[in-house]
Amino acid sequence: QKSLHGQKIAISGGGIGGAAAALALALRGAEVTLFERAKVFKEVGAGLQIGPHGWKMLDKWGVSQRITDLGFQPKDMIFRDAVDGSDLVTLTFDEEFENRYGGKYIVIHRSDLLTTLIEAARENGATLHNGIKVEDTFNEESGTGVELSLSTGDIFKADVFLAFDGVHSVQRAKMHGDKPVPSSYVAYRGTSSLVEDEEMKGLKSVIGYIGPHCHFIQYPLRGGNLLNQVAVFESKRYLDGLKIGNVPEDWGNNEELDSAYDHCTDFIQSRLPLMWRDKWWQMADLEAVDTWVNGRIILLGDAAHAPLQYLASGAVMAMEDAECVAQYAEDFVRAHGAVDWDRVLLEVETERVNRCRRVQNLGRFWGEIWHVDGAARLLRNELFRNAENNWYRYVDWLWGYDVTDRTYVQDPSKGDLPEGLEDYRYALAGTG
Ligand code: FAD
Repeated sequence: QKSLHGQKIAISGGGIGGAAAALALALRGAEVTLFERAKVFKEVGAGLQIGPHGWKMLDKWGVSQRITDLGFQPKDMIFRDAVDGSDLVTLTFDEEFENRYGGKYIVIHRSDLLTTLIEAARENGATLHNGIKVEDTFNEESGTGVELSLSTGDIFKADVFLAFDGVHSVQRAKMHGDKPVPSSYVAYRGTSSLVEDEEMKGLKSVIGYIGPHCHFIQYPLRGGNLLNQVAVFESKRYLDGLKIGNVPEDWGNNEELDSAYDHCTDFIQSRLPLMWRDKWWQMADLEAVDTWVNGRIILLGDAAHAPLQYLASGAVMAMEDAECVAQYAEDFVRAHGAVDWDRVLLEVETERVNRCRRVQNLGRFWGEIWHVDGAARLLRNELFRNAENNWYRYVDWLWGYDVTDRTYVQDPSKGDLPEGLEDYRYALAGTG
């Protein structure tokens, strides 16, 4: 019999985090019920980068081969200066990289990843509902379970509730009463044929152009047939609106996109017509909080720790959360014969809070470094060029992590910043 047989788990949110948790728990035999408020399971946006920290999760769940087949394995990641187009640093994803971090680096279409997770969760016995919103949740007075009130009017009972309901989480608002923190940046995305793209065909790298108040990312998807491009820039409309206390709703609009890269290499400007223009994403994250647990209820994924996207790890953090809950519950059963959810949820919180806070804080910090201007840009370029042969110092903590190691990652304000970044500690303190 599987370790979590008979455990009733309810999940809200069928994004990557909720779907991953449904799979990780169903694989251990739990009785999983997931509620997604949207009528279909879908991921808006296009590409997603999954570093080796995320690949290890997919591998544990038996879907890494399928994900690798559906996605693309880039040979490296190249950072360039967006103003003059010069190379800054290349991170090579070779065998040494895979051995160091115990996994691959892949890029995949978001919908391919989500569909794979949903299908695998269902194949393993999870029940996934669409078009049902979790309106509210209560710990039972007995302390032995939770009740969910659903948009259907029904009450659903479970042993434990995982809130994977995203950055605008109902559960987060209830527990902490806060809102997402808008950054002044906006993202445009776009996919186009790579094979028919004379300039880019044959692309095998993730390329990031970083420049004053903007960056621009390119990488292949779907076996190299599709090109994914992301244009991110600071919105003047947002900043001007902030000054007069009236931010227009359409900050970051098309007009702003058209002039956002005027100070950058012509190459980036020539690529902008390929961006989707009917939708853009106003970037926001959440403040880090120490408490994710209330009795049998836990916040996870973006609902607990939405970061800015600069470390390309928000979805991976949600997947790590998913595996952490399932693995720790299983470990508890193996050690004690039965699961004590109150304790397991607190163990999960202890393991995950500092790591995710670090992703949030360093996400803001890297965003600042990418977008500096003037002399700071020249110093940043020097720092990046000097990291050519030792860039791994900056990412070991991120990509080398495995949730089963129970590392209880240190608080970033108390040490273990990568060498070369110590001087920036004051900046981190400001974002913490
Ligand atoms: P979500 O994906 O937001 O899912 C929440 C789900 O809950 C939604 O489907 C919603 O409809 C549903 N829901 C909400 N409320 C309720 C309710 N009350 N009841 C039922 N359902 C509800 N991460 C990476 O790892 N790699 C990257 O390269 C990367 N790039 C990014 C680039 C950009 C521009 C952005 C913005 C983000 C990027 N991220 C990346 C971050 C990543 O997209 C998110 O961290 C991740 O998708 C969060 O997943 P989630 O399941 O926690 O939340």
